[in-house]
Amino acid sequence: MKHLFISFVIPSYNEEGNIIHMMKALSEMMMSNGHHYEVLFVDDGSSDKTMDEIRAALIEYPEVEYVSFTRNFGKEAAILAGLEYAKGDAVILMDADLQHPPDLIPQLIRGYEEGYDQVIAKRNRAGDAKIRSLLSRAYYWGVNKTIDVELRDGEGDFRLLSRRAVDSLLQLSEGNRFSKGLYSWIGLEQKTICYENVARKHGETKWSLKQLLNYAVDGVVSFNTKPLRLCFYTGLLSMFLSIAYISFTLIDIMRNGVDVPGYFTTISAVLFLGGVQLLSLGIIGEYVGRIYNETKKRPHYLVRRTSAEVKGKQAAHA
Ligand code: UDP
Ligand code: MG
Repeated sequence: MKHLFISFVIPSYNEEGNIIHMMKALSEMMMSNGHHYEVLFVDDGSSDKTMDEIRAALIEYPEVEYVSFTRNFGKEAAILAGLEYAKGDAVILMDADLQHPPDLIPQLIRGYEEGYDQVIAKRNRAGDAKIRSLLSRAYYWGVNKTIDVELRDGEGDFRLLSRRAVDSLLQLSEGNRFSKGLYSWIGLEQKTICYENVARKHGETKWSLKQLLNYAVDGVVSFNTKPLRLCFYTGLLSMFLSIAYISFTLIDIMRNGVDVPGYFTTISAVLFLGGVQLLSLGIIGEYVGRIYNETKKRPHYLVRRTSAEVKGKQAAHA
């Protein structure tokens, strides 16, 4: 069996209390299989003791590497940095909060050895609130009807990516990254492994309702321009309907004279069309905003320090 070099990429934002547990779990998992590995923590501008814990782990475990951002740039940026800095034949993306069970690692690696470029760990929604899982089911159904790539519920960032998959992802240079769609966009051979959802051990989730809503919108507009076409068709439909209504009323007026009471019809037409127009403007605005952001070509993140620098300094001193 060929020994692999595996990079674990762990985006970490305010994960104090989790880092050491995570590292311990990974090193126990990797002890038995003979593969070489590095654990790359991407500190996404944490304001708590996360960075101290990563430095402590670095002293204890030679496999630890880190990249530390100048401020919080978001999980997507952290994943991107992880993929850029990872040196492995394969990269395993995992959350720092132990919600991605390390027990699955052997299965992920086996999938890679079988020749798959993406081995995806899929979680079920056990323990999620009923209403939340219902809403997500409806959302994924709707989204997959509108966009070209397929997004699947429960398949998130917990996955193994081969070097080929990583390099493909790094070729996609867009500023506004929606990973879930990008994984699907690159294609390649994929295998799915299922696991039972686990609750977070320390700290709390960073997803607020607002962020979830924004994420939902991103999912729809990040991949194509079909929503714009939808605006176009809605406009067309309401135009035909109003032409029909106007002709009908005109004929009615010619036959029976002017009918004064018309408050209801007037107000409904104004409100409905106003709604359609604002919605369409909003959708167009989403795309314009994205164009604006892309044209600025800002980097996805800024690095404060990396473990390579620290290790290099130590080596120079020795
Ligand atoms: N995370 C990050 N930057 C952020 C928010 C989250 O790097 O701005 C990391 C976080 O430390 C964790 C992972 O992304 O390792 C998932 O975050 P969280 O557990 O809050 O999300 P959930 O599991 O609820 O989807
Ligand atoms: Mg979590």
